[in-house]
Amino acid sequence: MTSPTDKTRMLDELRQRLSGTLLQPKDKTYPRARRLWNAAIDRHPVAIAVCADAEDVGLAVRIASEHGTSLTVRGGGHNVAGRSISDDSLLIDLSRLRHVEINAENRVASVHGGALWHDLDLAGAAHHLFTTGGLVSSTGVGGFTLGGGTGWLMRQHGLAIDNLIGAEVVLPDGRYVRASAADNSELFYALRGGGGSPGVVTRFDFKLHPLQRVLAGIVIRPLAEASAALRVFRDFAAQAPDEYCGLMVLACAPPLPFLDATWHGRPVCICAMCWCGELAGGERVLEPLRRGGNVLADHVGPVPYVQWQHAQDGRAPPGRQQYWKTSCLADLRDPAIELLVEFTAKSGSPFSELHVQHLGGAVAREPETPAAFSARDAAYFVNLIGVTPWAEELPTVREDIRALHSRLRPHALSTVLPNFTNRDDGDPATQLGRDQERRVVAIRRRYDPQGLFSPPLKS
Ligand SMILES: Cc1cc2nc3c(=O)[nH]c(=O)nc-3n(C[C@H](O)[C@H](O)[C@H](O)COP(=O)(O)OP(=O)(O)OC[C@H]3O[C@@H](n4cnc5c(N)ncnc54)[C@H](O)[C@@H]3O)c2cc1C
Repeated sequence: MTSPTDKTRMLDELRQRLSGTLLQPKDKTYPRARRLWNAAIDRHPVAIAVCADAEDVGLAVRIASEHGTSLTVRGGGHNVAGRSISDDSLLIDLSRLRHVEINAENRVASVHGGALWHDLDLAGAAHHLFTTGGLVSSTGVGGFTLGGGTGWLMRQHGLAIDNLIGAEVVLPDGRYVRASAADNSELFYALRGGGGSPGVVTRFDFKLHPLQRVLAGIVIRPLAEASAALRVFRDFAAQAPDEYCGLMVLACAPPLPFLDATWHGRPVCICAMCWCGELAGGERVLEPLRRGGNVLADHVGPVPYVQWQHAQDGRAPPGRQQYWKTSCLADLRDPAIELLVEFTAKSGSPFSELHVQHLGGAVAREPETPAAFSARDAAYFVNLIGVTPWAEELPTVREDIRALHSRLRPHALSTVLPNFTNRDDGDPATQLGRDQERRVVAIRRRYDPQGLFSPPLKS
């Protein structure tokens, strides 16, 4: 922002020309509109442009750019680092751009830039056509995809970016361009896991896959059996077919109706699984994960995929204070397992969780069209999810999570999944590896020379 007069002129122009709404700090709805999923993020954008359509996006970007104002973009607002909002920037809010169109014949979904995963999943459900989406359905398609996008279908069909055919992007000068393998291929490279977009994506086009029911659910065991369960998971995952995708959660047991109430709130190990292949075969394949040890609950069975996609939603309500750290691992060795189990046993926070998810399968295979995403050599990723409803508890939660993250570092790879990084991890592009980072920096400079969408990187 150059001067207060300039700011006033920009806001006047936006107010007059936007078809959508411009919210400023003086407006009654501004305090609510600046909130994100993570309540720990408390930032004050100069204004919020709630765009009515893609034309509005182009207009807002052009006006802000003419006045030299930096921009942020909000899709689903789920990013735990709060990358969609910044003090003194204009926030482009895409919450009205949620339309999804399914071309069932070509198996392609065209998804507007502000859609959430349940918008796409529900539209696809009418045709039994889906693509890899987030584990919690209120996550934005936008941020999720730009960061790679891991989900239950990834080992069979790849990450969200591996299913992205093309995107429509509003550049900082207000131009609309197509990014795909054939058009603006460098931009397309950066959009797929590059840790930030040098423009606003107003439309994503995804490849879809036919799918009806999956064999999915959870098996719960006491925390005392978590080390053994994690080792079984590790050995199972190492040889599992691509149709399997699994996640291990160490947490306090939620009050699930199928879990004996005496276990509610006590630390447990939850083995979550999804099999997206032929169901009878899946029963046989998943059996080793379900047998053995003290099984407190086994809630695994055939369910419509879209139902499974919504199964975790209740565990991730908005409005809590969140602090996450993430690591990628080449393997899951016993010392790393012990660290995670020991932390959960001693953890003072009943809301925090540790997630260990297996990658591999299609994720490990380099796509035909190169992408900036660089964690394909990781076999697992571990998310340390620090959560508390109370702001005054956040510093303690944060310190605990940081300490665990440091202790895990000797077991971790240098690359990470951009979607789970925190603000103190810096620009995700710096964790892509030297060659990818250099390429992404050059692409950002070319498409966003003023650094309106992101402050210029050092290298
Ligand atoms: C409860 C929960 C569950 C999650 N589960 C998964 C999971 O299963 N797999 C996974 O990979 N990740 C997962 N994530 C992480 C999530 O994918 C990232 O936090 C992602 O950034 C969220 O995208 P969003 O659009 O909701 O967020 P936002 O905060 O709105 O945006 C995140 C970033 O993307 C940019 N952005 C968003 N939309 C656009 C657009 N249309 N054009 C240009 N830039 C845009 C924003 O500017 C910002 O930099 C989860 C997060 C939460 C909170």
